[in-house]
Amino acid sequence: MPTEDTTVRRLPDRARYDRATLDAILDEGLVCHVGFVADARPFVIPTTYGRVGDDLYVHGSPASRMLRALSDGVDVCVTVTLIDGLVLARSAFLDAFVDHVVPGRTADARPPNEKELRATLVLRLPIAEASAKVRTGGPIDDDEDMPLPVWAGELPLTTVPGPPVADAGVDVPLPGYVTGYRRGAKA
Ligand SMILES: Cc1cc2nc3c(=O)[nH]c(=O)nc-3n(C[C@H](O)[C@H](O)[C@H](O)COP(=O)(O)OP(=O)(O)OC[C@H]3O[C@@H](n4cnc5c(N)ncnc54)[C@H](O)[C@@H]3O)c2cc1C
Repeated sequence: MPTEDTTVRRLPDRARYDRATLDAILDEGLVCHVGFVADARPFVIPTTYGRVGDDLYVHGSPASRMLRALSDGVDVCVTVTLIDGLVLARSAFLDAFVDHVVPGRTADARPPNEKELRATLVLRLPIAEASAKVRTGGPIDDDEDMPLPVWAGELPLTTVPGPPVADAGVDVPLPGYVTGYRRGAKA
């Protein structure tokens, strides 16, 4: 059962606490984000994980700050997110958000009204300092492993939209930003 820390307060009817749902999300996810505090500062680090029964496992170099902090017993928060669709309402909120998710959508959807804007808190996070960590290419195997009769290589993954599902009562043609939707860097 949820505790004070894990009780969903906003839109609680969407909350699920049953193990079948939680395990399904954990088992489908590929990456978790591990949040912890080290040296009095918060960090969130992406990493792979595995679930065995009631336990999640993370692994890596003993020199990793994340693993050292976790093995010291600091509080930790692990997040796994699945994206399996985009829901487009007839109204749109803030241009930067909507056009980030579906470029071109704000020119089409109803803009926010005064009441909606008054009910929205927007915060700005300046990108003053940031890091990315990028890996490309196939496996980096040890020399002694190269002769092993084991398939090795790369399985590319891509985010590809499925066929659009129109909401009830929609009688306008599919917009180009839906039919031509693809995920990629901004032009
Ligand atoms: C899909 C995926 C799977 C991964 N799986 C594993 C795994 O199984 N085991 C493992 O040890 N590591 C994994 N990593 C790498 C992991 O994210 C960390 O880089 C690594 O664990 C080192 O952690 P650290 O705390 O020592 O980082 P440090 O090098 O001490 O971090 C210092 C700073 O570097 C930056 N930084 C570190 N890692 C990243 C990152 N990934 N992206 C952007 N900035 C970063 C942050 O600003 C951080 O504060 C994975 C990364 C990805 C993206």
